[in-house]
Amino acid sequence: MNQNEKSLPSNFIKDRIDDDLKTGKYAGKVITRFPPEPNGYLHIGHAKSIALNFGLAREYNGKCNLRFDDTNPTKEEQEYVDSIKEDIKWLGFDWEGREYYASDYFDKLYEYAIKLVKKGVAYVDSLSSEEIKEYRGMPTSPGKESPYRNRTVDENLELFEKMKNGEFEDGEHVLRAKIDMTSPNMNLRDPVLYRIKHAHHHRTGDKWCIYPMYDWAHGQSDSIEGITHSICTLEFENHRPLYDWFIDQLEIHHPSQIEFARLNLNYTVMSKRKLLQLVEQKIVDGWDDPRMPTISAFRRRGYTPESIVSFVEGVGVAKRDNVVDISVLEYAIRQDLNKKAMRVMAVINPLKIVITNYPDEIEYLDAVNNPEDESMGKRKIPFGKELWIEREDFQEVPHKKFHRLSPGNEVRLRYAYIIKCEEVIKDELGNIIELRCSYDPDTKSGSGKSDKKVKGTIHWVSAPHAFEAEIRLYDRLFNVENPSGDKDKDFLDFINPQSLEIKTKCKLEPGLKDAKPGDRFQFERQGYFCVDTKYTTLDKPVFNRVVTLRDTWAKIASRQ
Ligand code: ATP
Ligand code: MG
Repeated sequence: MNQNEKSLPSNFIKDRIDDDLKTGKYAGKVITRFPPEPNGYLHIGHAKSIALNFGLAREYNGKCNLRFDDTNPTKEEQEYVDSIKEDIKWLGFDWEGREYYASDYFDKLYEYAIKLVKKGVAYVDSLSSEEIKEYRGMPTSPGKESPYRNRTVDENLELFEKMKNGEFEDGEHVLRAKIDMTSPNMNLRDPVLYRIKHAHHHRTGDKWCIYPMYDWAHGQSDSIEGITHSICTLEFENHRPLYDWFIDQLEIHHPSQIEFARLNLNYTVMSKRKLLQLVEQKIVDGWDDPRMPTISAFRRRGYTPESIVSFVEGVGVAKRDNVVDISVLEYAIRQDLNKKAMRVMAVINPLKIVITNYPDEIEYLDAVNNPEDESMGKRKIPFGKELWIEREDFQEVPHKKFHRLSPGNEVRLRYAYIIKCEEVIKDELGNIIELRCSYDPDTKSGSGKSDKKVKGTIHWVSAPHAFEAEIRLYDRLFNVENPSGDKDKDFLDFINPQSLEIKTKCKLEPGLKDAKPGDRFQFERQGYFCVDTKYTTLDKPVFNRVVTLRDTWAKIASRQ
C-alpha cells in the first residue's frame, strides 16, 4: 500500500497506537483486520470499519487482514464472501492476499479449549439451553452454578472428545468456561465456548459437529494472526474482560481491543437481519437495490468509492453512539460528482414545443461539459424547430414566482435562444400536448448580439435527435428517521411506498447513446444519474438517479 496517502484526522484510536509505538509494545508493528461475518452484504457502516482498519494500516505502514468470522455454519454462504471481497476492493482497499477465515483456526481453537479444560477452567455442561439461561441470572442478581460445573478434568476431556466425535445430539452438552457466575458482567458468567451442531460448514464441510461461539473464536483468531490493535464497535466493550481472560489463561499474544461507535444513518436500517428481510420479502429487488444502504447498492446507484470513503472518514471516530443525517452522505457524492460528471440535458417528463419561426434546419450549438473543469471540454448539441422540454417548466396560469415558460412569457433555452410561448395546443380532453413558440435569433447564447435578459433558463432536447430511456427516481426507503425506533411496530410498517418512481420514455440528448452501465452524468437541473448495471439492455438504457441537485436553474441563468 502507498504510505504517502493522506493521513486520517487524529482520533483516540490513533492516540492509542501512537502510545504503543512510543513504548514499543508491539515492537513497532501495527496489524489490524476487518472481520466480517459472511451472512449478508456489507453496508455503509462496514465501510466505516473498512476505511478505519485499512486506513490505519496504510497510515502506519502496517497490515490489515481480511478475516471472515465464519463460526456459524448455518447462515453463511459463498455468495456473501464473494460480495464482501468485491466491495472492499471497490472501496479501494487491499488485503494483499491475507484472506483468512475463523474456520481456518478450528483445530487451533479446539486445542486451546482442551488447554482450558486441562487447567480446570472449562467444563462440559449438560443443562439445556433454557436452564443455562435461567441459571445465568439477571444483571442485577447473581447467577447460579451448574450442577455439572465440578466435573473432573478427565470426565470433561472425555465428554468434550465425544462431543467432537459426534456422539451426542445437538444441544445435549456444551463446553463452558469456568469463570464467575456472580460477576456483574454477564459475559463472565461461564460463557459457552462450544455448542453441538450437526451442520455442514461452507469451508470445513462435515468435519465438525461442534462449533465455537463467536466470543470464543474472535479474540483467539485475532491473537493467532498477531493482530496488534483489534478495533471493534462499542457493543463489544463489555466483552473485552472476557477476551482478556481467555488470552491470559491461554498465555498467547494479546492484541489491544479498542472500541468505537457504530455509524448509524437516519431513514434506513443497518442490521443485516433486517436487510435480509427486505431482500427475502422482495420489498427491494436484491441486496444491491439502489435504495438499500449496502455498498453494492450505492455502487449500483452511482455513488463513487471516493465519496463513500470521504463520508465515513469525515464523520470521524467517536466513543459515543450517534446518528448521522443522510444528507451528509448526499453532500459527499455531490461534491465528488460535481467535479467528475459530465453535464448533459435530459427531459424526464417531456412536453413538445415547436418553434414556428425557426427555419427547417438543424444547427449545432456548443455546450460545456463541466464548467468546474475546463479540461473536460465542449460538445455540439443539435438544435432545431422541434424540441422537448420538461412539462414542469410550463405553467398555463403561472403562479407569482414562476419565471419559466407561460403564455406570452419568455425563457432562455440553455446554450440556445430566448423563446416565447405563443400558443398552447390541447387535445380534446383539455390536456396540453404541445406549445407553439417563437424565438429571437439575436439572443443566441454567447453571441453577444442582444442584451435581452430573462429570469429563467430551462433545459431541452432536440426532438428528432432525442434518445429514449427509462429513468428511475429514488426516494428514502423509509418514511421515518428511525424505522427501528418504535418497539410496538415492525420496521416494515415504515416503508415509503413512493421510494421508487419509474419514468419511461424520457428524452435524452443524443450523445448519451454511448453511455455504458456504470457511467455517471449530471442531468442539468435534475441531479446526478448513473446507467444501471442490472436492467440496462442494448436497446433500453435505464438510468438511476444518484442524488438530486440542490442547485437550481437560477444559478445556471447567472452563468449564461
Ligand atoms: P449484524 O448486523 O448481524 O449485527 P455486524 O454489523 O456486526 O452484524 P459483522 O459482519 O460482524 O456485522 O461486521 C464486521 C465488522 O464491521 C465488525 O468489526 C463490526 O464491528 C463492523 N461494523 C458493523 N456495523 C458497523 C457500523 N454500523 N459502523 C461501524 N462498524 C461496523
Ligand atoms: Mg458482528
